[in-house]
Amino acid sequence: MNDNLSIKEIIEETKAYNCMQCAKCTSICPISRVDERFSPRLIAEKVLLGFDEVFKEKELWTCLTCAACNEKCPSGVDYTRFIRELRARAQKMGEMGTCAHGGAIQSIMRTMSNPNLSQNRLQWLSKDMKIASKGKILYFVGCLPYFDIIFEDIGVNPLKIARSAIRIFNHLGIEPVLMKDERCCGHDLLWSGDVENFEKLAKINIELIKETGAELVITTCPECYRTLKLDYSEYLGEQDFEIIHLSEFLSDLIEKGELEFDKAYQLDSNVTYQDPCRLGRHLGVYDQPRKIIDKIPGMRFSELESNREGSVCCGSSCWINCGQSSKEIQIEKLREAKSTADLLITACPKCQIHLKCAMVDKTGKGPKIDLEIEDLTVLTARALGYLI
Ligand code: SF4
Ligand code: SF4
Ligand code: SF4
Repeated sequence: MNDNLSIKEIIEETKAYNCMQCAKCTSICPISRVDERFSPRLIAEKVLLGFDEVFKEKELWTCLTCAACNEKCPSGVDYTRFIRELRARAQKMGEMGTCAHGGAIQSIMRTMSNPNLSQNRLQWLSKDMKIASKGKILYFVGCLPYFDIIFEDIGVNPLKIARSAIRIFNHLGIEPVLMKDERCCGHDLLWSGDVENFEKLAKINIELIKETGAELVITTCPECYRTLKLDYSEYLGEQDFEIIHLSEFLSDLIEKGELEFDKAYQLDSNVTYQDPCRLGRHLGVYDQPRKIIDKIPGMRFSELESNREGSVCCGSSCWINCGQSSKEIQIEKLREAKSTADLLITACPKCQIHLKCAMVDKTGKGPKIDLEIEDLTVLTARALGYLI
């Protein structure tokens, strides 16, 4: 439990005391690039000087926690954790960012933190999909069933990712465990400062996972991945199950010659790939998605100009403070992808949601960018012959 760090402890634990005000963070920050009033250096300075106003300012909630600055900071400041801990303190002072979608998503997450409620979230499965209730390999679906309904109007179908994952597992002869009462992993509550409800969600999920006997938990969402792997351990102690992203699982099978693609299902396309912040900079998974793309017949791959450690965030994080800066970052990203390929491959359901949102401009004033965006899991299932 570390939900109540003092300012002094936050500065110590994140090494913010090393900050020498060089502003390398500001120079790399995607928000600062489109909004010159936003300065991560200045936030650090205010905290180090003991200015409490930082808790009342919107900048605290505007940071994407994308970790681009962590990569560049010469003093080793863990800036993303710095922001996360400051937000936890701010929440205790009654402060909060502006929730996107009227706070509906936060409400759903908090509702799921009630242990006395139960869900049946497996109704999207079709009869021929084989799953188990106990076993060694568990597929952690995440909030895809909720997102499927909430974001229907912007043309995303996040459950396609879950259906594709099941097809791939079954193709490999695996009947993965699915939990009918799985809860939100708690990522967005944690990163917006609501540690109390994050911990409630984490405890329920840990108990549910233990009951299944799972030894390996596989996710298709980098945020679930980061949360289960790093944050559950940090807040609730080491867990006795391993957690990986599906791209790691599949690239390992490809390497061992246990997963092969048939040219009969070749996907003929010029493609590029968006490194999600959580999968890439937070967890260091860069090669595995590329290895899968490389093996899928018919895919001609080109890197985005901003890639791997230098990838730019999709512009929105934990459903707070999504505004003009987010839109500008997203439009720039879409333009970059459009000039690189016909199909942008994502490996994070939320990257796809945020980027497609930017393409559906309901005011009619924004630029029209027509680009195909699809998740790597869906493309992998298609390349194995499943029409999803
Ligand atoms: S890059 Fe690091 S040392 Fe430089 S201003 Fe930012 S936090 Fe401080
Ligand atoms: S984490 Fe990302 S958005 Fe936040 S200050 Fe650093 S570079 Fe900017
Ligand atoms: S970019 Fe994402 S957070 Fe912002 S309005 Fe669109 S879907 Fe919501």
